[in-house]
Amino acid sequence: MKQYLKVYNSLSSTKEKFEPLNPPHVGMYVCGPTVYSDVHLGNLRSFLSFDIVFRYLLHLGYKVRYVRNITDVGHLENDADEGEDKVAKKAKLENLEPMEVVHKYTQGFHRVTDIFNLKPPSIEPSASGHIIEQIELTQKILDAGFAYETNGSVYFDVMKYHKKSHYGILSGRVLEDLIAGTRELDGQDEKRGPLDFALWKKAAPSHIMRWPSPWSNGFPGWHLECSTMSTKYLGKQFDIHGGGIDLKFPHHECEIAQCVAGYDVPPVKYWMHANMLTINGQKMSKSLGNSILPHQLISGDHPLLEKAYSPMTIRFFMLQTHYRSTLDLSNQALIAASKGYKKIANGIRVLKQLQHPGTTMDNEIGKADQQLTQLCDNCYHAMNDDFNTAKTIAHLFNILKKINSIHNGQLKLTELSEDTFNRVKSTFLHFVEDVLGLMEERPDELDLLLSIVMETYQEAKINKQYDKVDAIRKQLKDQGIILKDMKTGVDWAYEE
Ligand code: ZN
Repeated sequence: MKQYLKVYNSLSSTKEKFEPLNPPHVGMYVCGPTVYSDVHLGNLRSFLSFDIVFRYLLHLGYKVRYVRNITDVGHLENDADEGEDKVAKKAKLENLEPMEVVHKYTQGFHRVTDIFNLKPPSIEPSASGHIIEQIELTQKILDAGFAYETNGSVYFDVMKYHKKSHYGILSGRVLEDLIAGTRELDGQDEKRGPLDFALWKKAAPSHIMRWPSPWSNGFPGWHLECSTMSTKYLGKQFDIHGGGIDLKFPHHECEIAQCVAGYDVPPVKYWMHANMLTINGQKMSKSLGNSILPHQLISGDHPLLEKAYSPMTIRFFMLQTHYRSTLDLSNQALIAASKGYKKIANGIRVLKQLQHPGTTMDNEIGKADQQLTQLCDNCYHAMNDDFNTAKTIAHLFNILKKINSIHNGQLKLTELSEDTFNRVKSTFLHFVEDVLGLMEERPDELDLLLSIVMETYQEAKINKQYDKVDAIRKQLKDQGIILKDMKTGVDWAYEE
């Protein structure tokens, strides 16, 4: 049976066969964090979802250029065109330069993505590094007649655009309904229509992040940066654009409008959205006190947490739910995930030690061989079905059962052909380590092991087994560790 990858496209609301514009190259853009605070768990889930897309496309042999931006300017409070810039507000509160805030939270974001084993994107551009390009795109949209200037600010004319194209094509929202839901503009308003959004904003005197432009000293609108940076690095049309579901409207809707207005082509072939994360069935929010940060999950330092959970436990837990479904976090689910992850980790350790003898009893090969071939195919079926990690993990557990049967002798390796065994080995290892990105987590063993060795050393000394004493000292010295006989007992140190 011929297999191909299917992707759920938010634009058509259906699963479509994945056919990149320029195979084997794939261009993928994902809206990155706004770096004014620690990355939220919900955001982490979203970035993890696209890490899986990135990893699986690489596994299938595509050459992926993955661009994930850093929003360091232009994202105003309430995601609207009014209010303070989120970064600038934090800078004032903490008495820092805005770029100190940006640097601090960008580094924090990278620490989190490293800990959870997210692959770094191919390019990670920042909005403040692309002001010139944003001014250029604003000018293009002005020249095309889909924007207007008022008092040094430039706004996108949604009504005019909608006459030519379709505002709402991605989100399915109806323009008339949207307008009905907004307040009436008064005579003082800079905008001509209530849905119009800023491409460029003139900075108020108190606004600290500002750049010169043909219209005013000001700063770019939030939606503009993603249109600018995605098309700069991936071309006017590219394959995949991803983000959290909360970005679908208005952010992504506005991105499409800007690109169609400026470049006259729809920018993206497949729009993908990762669903939300809830906690104990509730939306996470600061006011409910149920907002948990990634580092709190790892330390266990939060009133709602019964214990600490390791990064790979959390990663595994998130992957047990398909990215388009809501993911509910609870202690119960995390404890179950911890057990599940350790089973998989043990399976890897066992599998790495197993070798097929090379010979088989021809008459014994049959059922198990066929079953395992099917189970390997199933892993691909599941991932090809819109990156269904939940089903993939279920299939990996079925393979694991067989691995454990081999390990405890119930199933003999000679009942499998060498090819099948090698396929099982490579499928299991590749899916766990490369596609799902689950790493082995070793406990900090050094102190524990050394305390055991030092006990044995002291016993040998008391029993005057000097050969053994010398052998222990020499073996540790070969590893760069020396034992010290102290009045209080034995201690160890790194050999200087
Ligand atoms: Zn974006």
